[in-house]
Amino acid sequence: MLANERRERIKNLIRSRHNIKISELSELFGVSEMTIHRDIKPLVEEGIVIKTFGGITIARKEPEHAPGSNDCVFCHRKIDRRLSYRLILPENKVEATCCAHCGLLRHQQLGDKAIQAICHDFLFHTTISAPMAYFVMDALLDIGCCQPQVLTFGKKEHAEGFVKGFGGLVLSFSEALERVHVKMECCGTDKSPPTV
Ligand SMILES: [Zn+2]
Ligand SMILES: [Zn+2]
Repeated sequence: MLANERRERIKNLIRSRHNIKISELSELFGVSEMTIHRDIKPLVEEGIVIKTFGGITIARKEPEHAPGSNDCVFCHRKIDRRLSYRLILPENKVEATCCAHCGLLRHQQLGDKAIQAICHDFLFHTTISAPMAYFVMDALLDIGCCQPQVLTFGKKEHAEGFVKGFGGLVLSFSEALERVHVKMECCGTDKSPPTV
């Protein structure tokens, strides 16, 4: 078995068991404990597992496996990572929303409690800081998420270029915050925003 394969198996094991002894892994895969230590090194570096005395333990819930974290905190839609808008709160808490529409509404609810907000460039899928982003509303292209639709761009000229082709309005963060609220006709019927 290749080291990569072993590493994947260890990852799966630790996800289901949460704690495993090095000796047990060594026995299971029929390799030395030294080899197991080498296998888990990248997992430790990635922050997936923590070394304990004689074993490893799962470091934290990985965001994509945490229960419910795939649903928008605002409208409970399934989250598409490329559209998601994440809010960083104190104590490493993270709230994810399905798109910038819900992100802005939730951001407004949270106010100063949100330490940081992260979204993605619509064209390049790069991560951008929401307060620095450019927001396009009322574009003709339908991404199939919440209405009124809000798209995010890292660069103003990209947002403006997009608007030339697909219509809409380029807004700054504060303008978008205000406008999404004014234009709020609610995207889903079962929308029940969590209380802060
Ligand atoms: Zn949502
Ligand atoms: Zn949405």
